[in-house]
Amino acid sequence: MADTNAECNIKVLCRFRPLNESEIVRGDKFIPIFQGEDTVIFGGKAYVFDQVFPTNTTQEQVYNTCAKQIVKDVLGGYNGTIFAYGQTSSGKTHTMEGNLHDPQAMGIMPRIAQDIFEHIFAMDENLEFHIKVSYFEIYMEKIRDLLDVTKNNLSVHEDKYRVPYVKGCSERFVTSPEEVMDVIDEGKANRHVAVTNMNEHSSRSHSIFLINIKQENVETEQKLSGKLYLVDLAGSEKVSKTGAEGAVLDEAKNINKSLSALGNVISALAEGTKSHVPYRDSKMTRILQDSLGGNCRTTMFICCSPSSYNDVETKSTLMFGQRAKTIRNTVTVNLELTAEQWKKKYEKEKEKNRSMKETIQRLEAELNCWRNGNAWLPHVECNYVLAGIPSTPCTPCSPCSIASSIVVHISHEERQKYEEEIRKLYKQMDDKDDEINHQSQMVEKLKEQMLDQEELLASSRGDSERVQSELCRLQTENESSKAEVKEVLQALEELAVNYDQKSLEVEEKSMQNKLLAEELAKKMVSQSFKKLVEVSGHQRKRIAEVLNGLTRDLREFSTIVGNREIKLITGAIEEEFTVARLYISKIKSEVKSMVKRCRYLENLQMDCQRKMEETSRELSSCQLVIAQHEAKIRSLTEYTQNVEMKKRQLEDGYDSLTEELAKLQAQGTAEETRSPTCISENKTALEEQMQSHREMHSKQLNHLRDEINEKQKIIDDLTDCNQKQRLELEQLHGDFERLRTQEHHKSRQLEELTTGGKLKSACMELNDTGGFLTQKQKISFLENNLEQLTKVHKQLVRDNADLRCELPKLEKRLRSTAERVKALEGALKEAKEGAMKDRQRYEQEVERIKDVMRTRNPFRRPHAAQIGNIIILARYGLGITSPVSFKVI
Ligand code: ADP
Ligand code: MG
Repeated sequence: MADTNAECNIKVLCRFRPLNESEIVRGDKFIPIFQGEDTVIFGGKAYVFDQVFPTNTTQEQVYNTCAKQIVKDVLGGYNGTIFAYGQTSSGKTHTMEGNLHDPQAMGIMPRIAQDIFEHIFAMDENLEFHIKVSYFEIYMEKIRDLLDVTKNNLSVHEDKYRVPYVKGCSERFVTSPEEVMDVIDEGKANRHVAVTNMNEHSSRSHSIFLINIKQENVETEQKLSGKLYLVDLAGSEKVSKTGAEGAVLDEAKNINKSLSALGNVISALAEGTKSHVPYRDSKMTRILQDSLGGNCRTTMFICCSPSSYNDVETKSTLMFGQRAKTIRNTVTVNLELTAEQWKKKYEKEKEKNRSMKETIQRLEAELNCWRNGNAWLPHVECNYVLAGIPSTPCTPCSPCSIASSIVVHISHEERQKYEEEIRKLYKQMDDKDDEINHQSQMVEKLKEQMLDQEELLASSRGDSERVQSELCRLQTENESSKAEVKEVLQALEELAVNYDQKSLEVEEKSMQNKLLAEELAKKMVSQSFKKLVEVSGHQRKRIAEVLNGLTRDLREFSTIVGNREIKLITGAIEEEFTVARLYISKIKSEVKSMVKRCRYLENLQMDCQRKMEETSRELSSCQLVIAQHEAKIRSLTEYTQNVEMKKRQLEDGYDSLTEELAKLQAQGTAEETRSPTCISENKTALEEQMQSHREMHSKQLNHLRDEINEKQKIIDDLTDCNQKQRLELEQLHGDFERLRTQEHHKSRQLEELTTGGKLKSACMELNDTGGFLTQKQKISFLENNLEQLTKVHKQLVRDNADLRCELPKLEKRLRSTAERVKALEGALKEAKEGAMKDRQRYEQEVERIKDVMRTRNPFRRPHAAQIGNIIILARYGLGITSPVSFKVI
């Protein structure tokens, strides 16, 4: 270090900002009165500073009058600091930074950045510069690196010259003003990122921009270094004014603590009692230790508001500035000596040391004289020298006065020992500082961890509550599903028993159905019946398939039920059971309805058969009647033939009689000629005879004609009736033929047998009765029979139509049943998949909770048990009661 020491006061500059809009609107008074360049009268009191800047002072003027010189000093190897002190919104940031990228409105920082490089470019070519910058802020007694946000609690250390510095703070080498500006921009951006309310944050934090310039003369190897601190302090207003409460109040107190520490340091320095300056009270005073009462050219800007509203704060600011103005710093050029210079210095110091040693020897000798009670040796010229105290010529004095002036004599070794001890103590202090920092960081970390833990705890509590509620829900679900399962099992048992019965019944029925189907197949010739059979066969097949499937399922179930080893592997099975139960009950009802339908169909079939038999019987009787009628018709035709014969005979008789009459007439004429009287008598007798004959003949003829007419009428009626009957018979015959083809051989044999028997009896009856009345009776009987037959036929046709109508319905029902079965299968599948997914989800959830608990409480084992319980319960809630799953847990 150079030995060119110089004392200088802290330069205090006062800057007033203009009234702002709100102050103007409020009608605040403009208080300050500016007198000359260095005085301001505020509230009737004059305050004198190095310079007072009125409101209209430009940024450039401010820079030129104060800061420019500091750049030169820093480049000359001195340390420099520029503070901005004042209440919030008094213009600190405006002064220090201003509008960073506006050439007019830019503050001190950007101007310094430019100026440094301008100076460097104008300096000696042999000089080599290394410029590095750092940017950090102090908030709540924590140093936060603005160029690396991860460093949020840096500590303060002392270098080998016992100058404090921020350890571990990011340093950026810069080679141009633009790079400096980039660093400032980056720092400001980081500052904005970390906080929510920037205005509030900036008014409560101290931001420090450090420019470190090292230069080396490549020719002489002489090294110079200078540090420049640019400090934008937190607002100096009192806490009460901000109306802060709670955490904000604590924060404000903390900030004011560091500011009050600054005040205390300045007061201590101003009073001149340099024995103890409380630099270590705050990190800020510690960092700026060298700037306040140390090796530093310091400039302090006192930023003030001109408003009457802020008069108290302004006054306190002005007072602070006044105090600070008295502080004197001893500045030294930070010069690193070359080997040659060190050598010279060493020689000089050696010489000094030698003379000092001589003086000490003399003084020791004198002291011994005094101690031994010997008289003072006047020829001895002494210099009382203490380390670091300039030697003064010693004047003759009394022993006590000498004793009082020589406080302690310390030998070289002792001094070295003390210095070593002091060094050790300082080292210890630094270590303690480090430890404190470390501890405070640890505390912070622990606090953060605590907060994290609390958050985690809250979230895990929420989780556990959720899990608990889920668990409760699952338990209730489990209970209900257990009950359901029980019911299902009971139902299954019943169903299994029923099923066996039903299956037997179904088998029987199917056998019967098969037989019936075979019979029907034989009977059914009509296409519609065939179709019906085909469709019903198809349906039966499908029913059989469904039943087989159900049988399989039921067998599985029955085996499960039979074995009594129901292992509810997943919660889904319970659901499956319920679904299966539903399906089974549905299928049961379906089977029941199918059985009913089968029965109904069977009954219908039986009815049909019966009706067919009846119809066939009636048909045979009809055939008999028809045969009788035919026989009657035949007898009647014979009768008419006989009557015709009789008629012809009578006509022949009439002809012979007419011939006889003609003969007789001819005889009469011959005899008339012989005896006219006799002849006339004979003639009258004959005529009478003829007349009687004619009358008899005519009577007979009339009777015969009447009889013929009657018979004709009967014949006509009978032929009509016959025709009708023939037609009906033909119809019946057709129907009968159709029905007969449907009948089995047995019925045909039966029919033949019955018709045989009936024919015989009918023939017998016909032979016995004969006659007209019996014919009439037969006709009426036949008519009745025909009517009945037509009725039966119609009924059959209707039944057939009904069956045809029923058929699509049945088909539909079967189809819908099949679809339902399919849908149920699909639903079952979906339910299974859903259950699987649910299970997976639950397991994942449980794993997640487990992991969370594990990560939160890595050392707390009891939680593991809790997790286990939760998992067990969760699994139990899912219906996993298998011991295997518990083992897994
Ligand atoms: P502080 O940093 O002390 O809280 P600011 O520097 O942010 O205050 O200033 C508050 C407001 O006042 C800003 O809008 C700024 O532009 C304005 N201001 C401060 N000083 C001046 C001045 N000398 N001339 C013009 N405006 C100023
Ligand atoms: Mg500010």
